[in-house]
Amino acid sequence: MQIDKVYEPQRFEPHWAQSWIDSGIYRANPAAPGRVFSLVIPPPNVTGSLHIGHMLEHTEIDVTIRWRRMLGHNTLWLPGTDHAGIATQMVVERKLAEEGITRRDLGREEFEKRVWQWKEQYGDNIKRQMIRLGASCDWSRERFTLDPGLSRAVREVFVRLYEKGLVYRGEYMVNWCPRCHTALSDLEVAHTDVAGHLWHIRYPVNGMPGRFVTVATTRPETMLGDTAIAINAKDARYFELHAKTVQLPIMDREISIILDDLADPEFGTGVVKVTPAHDLNDFEAGRRHNLPKIKVIDENARMTDAAGPYAGLDRFEARKAVVAELEKIGALVKVEDYKLSLGTCQRCKTPVEPLVSTQWFVKMKPLAEKAIEVVENGRIEFIPANWTKTYYEWMYNIRDWCISRQLWWGHRIPAWHCQECHEIVVARETPSSCPRCGSEELVQDTDVLDTWFSSGLWPFSTLGWPDQTTDLATYYPTSLLITGFDILFFWVARMIMMGLEFMGEVPFHQVYIHALVRDAEGQKMSKTKGNVIDPLVVTEKYGTDAIRMAMLQCAAPGTDIILTEARMESSRAFANKIWNAARFLFMNMERCGAEPWVPERLEEFLPEAEGGDVPIEDRWIFSRLNDCAQQVNRAIETYRYHEAAQLLWQFIWHEFCDWYVELKKLRFEDNSGLTAGWRNILAAFENTLRLLHPAMPFITEELWQRFLPSRGEGALRSISLATYPQYRREATDFAAEREIGILQEVVTMARTLRTESKLDPKQQLTGTLYCRTAALEVAQRHAEAIRKLANVKLEFKAEAAPKAPAIRSTAEFDLVLEVPKSQEEAKARREAKEREQLEKNIANSKRQLSDEVFLSKAPQKVVDSIRAKLADYEAQLAKLS
Ligand SMILES: [Zn+2]
Ligand SMILES: [Zn+2]
Repeated sequence: MQIDKVYEPQRFEPHWAQSWIDSGIYRANPAAPGRVFSLVIPPPNVTGSLHIGHMLEHTEIDVTIRWRRMLGHNTLWLPGTDHAGIATQMVVERKLAEEGITRRDLGREEFEKRVWQWKEQYGDNIKRQMIRLGASCDWSRERFTLDPGLSRAVREVFVRLYEKGLVYRGEYMVNWCPRCHTALSDLEVAHTDVAGHLWHIRYPVNGMPGRFVTVATTRPETMLGDTAIAINAKDARYFELHAKTVQLPIMDREISIILDDLADPEFGTGVVKVTPAHDLNDFEAGRRHNLPKIKVIDENARMTDAAGPYAGLDRFEARKAVVAELEKIGALVKVEDYKLSLGTCQRCKTPVEPLVSTQWFVKMKPLAEKAIEVVENGRIEFIPANWTKTYYEWMYNIRDWCISRQLWWGHRIPAWHCQECHEIVVARETPSSCPRCGSEELVQDTDVLDTWFSSGLWPFSTLGWPDQTTDLATYYPTSLLITGFDILFFWVARMIMMGLEFMGEVPFHQVYIHALVRDAEGQKMSKTKGNVIDPLVVTEKYGTDAIRMAMLQCAAPGTDIILTEARMESSRAFANKIWNAARFLFMNMERCGAEPWVPERLEEFLPEAEGGDVPIEDRWIFSRLNDCAQQVNRAIETYRYHEAAQLLWQFIWHEFCDWYVELKKLRFEDNSGLTAGWRNILAAFENTLRLLHPAMPFITEELWQRFLPSRGEGALRSISLATYPQYRREATDFAAEREIGILQEVVTMARTLRTESKLDPKQQLTGTLYCRTAALEVAQRHAEAIRKLANVKLEFKAEAAPKAPAIRSTAEFDLVLEVPKSQEEAKARREAKEREQLEKNIANSKRQLSDEVFLSKAPQKVVDSIRAKLADYEAQLAKLS
């Protein structure tokens, strides 16, 4: 039984991380007893490596699952990764670019092969990192969204939705990325405020010479595609224009004036241009009025032939040219500065282009209704609750979801186009011929599904659906989801809709939304700012346990998490404190020849008597442990991880280490305490390790294994399989808490008084404790402990204290220390010196403040500061006297 002198987590953390995996102890077993507690990981992108946000998420999940496991629940934490369509495709395309080739050079099949190769090579990064960080998930159930099983689920869902009329193909305005060459869902478009312009253009009204209407636009190049202008039917200013037409400048095209609410009489001139091919609102107005769509910008964001003289120009070059021409022909009324919200591709930052195209959609309204209901009736609960409102807002305003992506990496849409009769066949299996005309010329749709389509099925596809597996029956619905707010809509909402549709049951009962990790200045971490904390780097530096503890301490629900290295350092000091306490206990066990021991049934153990009495500090520590256990259980259950961490910290450092171990030290010094009482110490320590285990799994496992090296057959293999300490009424011992409380109070008083009076901490002092209650007797009983812990020899008097120079009082006690002569003289000398310096400073300041020349030249700020200092010196001097 040895324990290293220095706490070096790097020496044992990787060992336990691997050992937990190898032993298979976190493998879920549907047949296991206990209440089921299951949870699926928010699958990280397969392209990624762990960032600090993952580490926070995984720490919170791991604490929860370890705690549940120790409660005896039948737990499953299912891990896996997402194929992340567009993100992964971009990574591989970038690699190809280094070789000087594009995916088109390779062709679809070859390109897909390259992505799989890439996945084989780098896709395990996340897994390796998670293992290293101690995630206690079931790797035997690891899933990938493109696994054959999950792909089958995707097809099944697509076909069933199609058969139900909830998947359809249609022409619609989509957000198009001209760089990535794919449609983007609204959620994949990032909006940023940019400084732009508002161009006011006038269109002449046909048949009314000299009459113009003025429209304002932020995108003048789109006017080339205008097919109408709109006015509001109620707008009196334009009654005379009803049924008229205007002449489109430059293109010289006659376009109609439509009456539509798109034009708001309160806004601008009350006239708007209508470009159905390049704006969503205009597209819808165009549908209402049956307007032609003229596409003037293409998929590469270049002007089409329909743009006349500007064909072939980039959209931004075209803008300049159009504005110049409008100015030249006198159609430009004015230009204003204007702040606008520019939509850009979330992946590549290219401004998106609204384009009309044929895509696949999911009809969302019918799915959303049920998903709103389950939150309203409490079957799903968001924590913190304020996210519920955000969820409703989105769900009530939900639009159809464009699910097709013009990519090569992903689930290819299970639809086939007949080349003969243009029939579209949607099927689970590749069809051999067209059911309508019998042709065998069927070509599969080239698009793939949005990545979130497959991750939306994650809680049931990972458990074997559409097969009715035991896993599915046991672990669905899952108990909890822990995730970030940024994917509340992308992912959480869609899982709820899909779960209800296909399982007829919610996918989880609770959703805990964690906050964002920020740096010391409260800034979001980003590579460009250079303030990113790499989990693996800090793990190497401080150890995983310290990082976990540091994160948990600041993980209050609903607030941003300010993570600093200082916090990690103090958490490491905390681990070190525990290590040293263990080492101290070890060495004394050895010295006393005590045997490692753990109670058969911890939940029944109470401190035992030694020489007639149960030692007071044992009764006390078990009572405190009991209290801590009660509070920590409650904190973890309600996701108040910060509270759990602070409770553990307070108990272990400031009660167990600072007092219990110190009191035991006194017993060890005293020969009578050398042999007995070890069972109490070991049980208390082992219990403490269990309490801490979910938060700091490595150090607790390491110490636990060292304390109990030779356990018999059938013994537990890991502390993570031990039971979690629970509150027991019989372990509460108020009398012991009161007694040790008095001891702590007196020792703390004495220490504080000594510091305040600037007395030498090494010199033993004498003093008197005055107290007029029964507490005096209790304190007196611990006179020896007080003498050793505070280095003060006390007399006890049941009377009121006289007035004295070195005195400190609490509700019950007055403590007077006798200040030795030698120390009094030293103190007087120090004070005289201080006084002399202060007087000198005061004279200096006064001289400056009476110097007219100085006052006339010095800035007011300087003069004020001298005045403030003078006042301060005078106050200090008064205090000394
Ligand atoms: Zn893009
Ligand atoms: Zn056909």
